[in-house]
Amino acid sequence: MSNRQTKSDVILIGAGIMSATLGTLLKELAPDWEIKVFEKLASAGEESSNEWNNAGTGHAALCELNYTSEKPDGSVDISKAVKINEQFQVSMQFWSYLVSSNLIRNPQDFIMPLPHMSLVMGEKNVAFLKNRFEALSNNPLFHGMEYSADPATLEKWIPLIMKGRTSNEPIAATKIDTGTDVNFGALTRLLLDYLQTKKVNIEYKQSVDDIKRTSDGLWELKVRNVESGSVERHTAKFVFIGGGGGSLHLLQKSGIPEGKAIGGFPVSGLFMACNNQEVIEQHHAKVYGKAPVGAPPMSVPHLDTRYIDNKKTLLFGPFAGFSPKFLKTGSIFDLVTSVKPHNLVTMLAAGAKNVSLTKYLIQQVMLSKEQRMADLRGFVPDAKSEDWDLVVAGQRVQVIKDTNEGGKGTLQFGTEVITAADGSIAALLGASPGASTAVQVMLEVMQKCFPQHIKEWEPKLKEMIPSYGVSLVQNPELIKEIHALTARALDLNGEPQPVV
Ligand SMILES: Cc1cc2nc3c(=O)[nH]c(=O)nc-3n(C[C@H](O)[C@H](O)[C@H](O)COP(=O)(O)OP(=O)(O)OC[C@H]3O[C@@H](n4cnc5c(N)ncnc54)[C@H](O)[C@@H]3O)c2cc1C
Repeated sequence: MSNRQTKSDVILIGAGIMSATLGTLLKELAPDWEIKVFEKLASAGEESSNEWNNAGTGHAALCELNYTSEKPDGSVDISKAVKINEQFQVSMQFWSYLVSSNLIRNPQDFIMPLPHMSLVMGEKNVAFLKNRFEALSNNPLFHGMEYSADPATLEKWIPLIMKGRTSNEPIAATKIDTGTDVNFGALTRLLLDYLQTKKVNIEYKQSVDDIKRTSDGLWELKVRNVESGSVERHTAKFVFIGGGGGSLHLLQKSGIPEGKAIGGFPVSGLFMACNNQEVIEQHHAKVYGKAPVGAPPMSVPHLDTRYIDNKKTLLFGPFAGFSPKFLKTGSIFDLVTSVKPHNLVTMLAAGAKNVSLTKYLIQQVMLSKEQRMADLRGFVPDAKSEDWDLVVAGQRVQVIKDTNEGGKGTLQFGTEVITAADGSIAALLGASPGASTAVQVMLEVMQKCFPQHIKEWEPKLKEMIPSYGVSLVQNPELIKEIHALTARALDLNGEPQPVV
């Protein structure tokens, strides 16, 4: 047991994209606040935020079919797509500010321009895609989207996917060139490097094991050095639980009533990574398909060009599966130990409701490499097994809670910010749309937890995020300005630089 005790304004638990984003926002808005970060792994961005653990899609609803739904009359509801796109524009503006202010030097260290495409097969799906295209392309947020059902055009757009395709089934795609590939791992590290220059104390290999309220209204964290086992106590006025899959357990330890009757459902992920440079060079897009029947929305298959470790690469997946761990580096007891008296009924209800989903996920885990290759060949007909390797991706812990619409134990696919009534502690749960909307979600944390400062912070917030407080979809001129500003600042106009 060590005697070290410290007192700070803010403690961020976890060194992933969420804590990194909140820390950076707070440092810009309240430079004098003392901020500490505790991370149990040896470096930053090693769990879900790591570039190999997520798909790196800058989610702007340009290609993800699950963000638009078909209404009974056949028309397409784009409201969710609009919301996600607006949220992504907030991230893009903040990242542009970081580059323009030299807090991050080279945007291509974390973001690259990449066409986003949706691809469907079969008459019904083609009709849906056409309707979706018509609904989206009239909206200025989705300006520049193209549609084609012409095989010759598709061969130009996606030669690798069209090569060797013998089926006569109707096929169609949409394409928009303003999509992005984001290396969230690199971004996390860049932000934390910057924070370190601003005297933010980031301590690695330090696991937060407990969180308690003190009699004077502060939060006291029990922090254990994972190597030596020594324990320290650190207090703060405000704590952000940014532990990714580890957040639910920490929220439960805090004991706040807002964290009761909430559970987590872990979904594991697997990618197939191409190891043949010749194949990699034949593809240049993120191509999203439709989720198979019975599959959860996060298992939509996609074939993505990625920029990782300064190299162009190609990933297919993610294949969703079941694992009881809440973090990739977590424990097989994570799911069981997250069940408490206050969420037992919610969890049991969720278990009963999601038998078929659980069965589907377990079946997915059991798939052999050859069975996964068969899925890949739906995208790349002549894919060869020796060109593809399996890569284990991150864990996503979906929130389970009781809702008015879904009843007890409803599985949620979005992110949830849980805050104490007095705003002294906040936790982020859930996984989608994830890292892409980190800035918007952290603004929400600040609005809930620091309402007394928001007025005084507003001018700086508007400098960092020019659309702050304004609905973009109702301001087409502002959309144009923001698109131009972010494309220029993040170097997204031209072809990506050649990578070695
Ligand atoms: C397969 C997959 C694909 C995805 N694809 C996309 C995508 O294409 N686009 C997108 O925007 N998002 C995507 N996401 C989601 C995105 O990766 C996450 O939303 C995001 O990375 C979460 O960031 P975080 O900071 O909350 O968590 P993490 O990055 O997981 O960071 C949490 C950190 O907290 C640490 N920690 C946990 N418990 C403790 C503790 N007790 N003490 C100290 N430290 C602790 C962990 O070690 C970890 O470093 C994907 C996720 C997965 C798994």
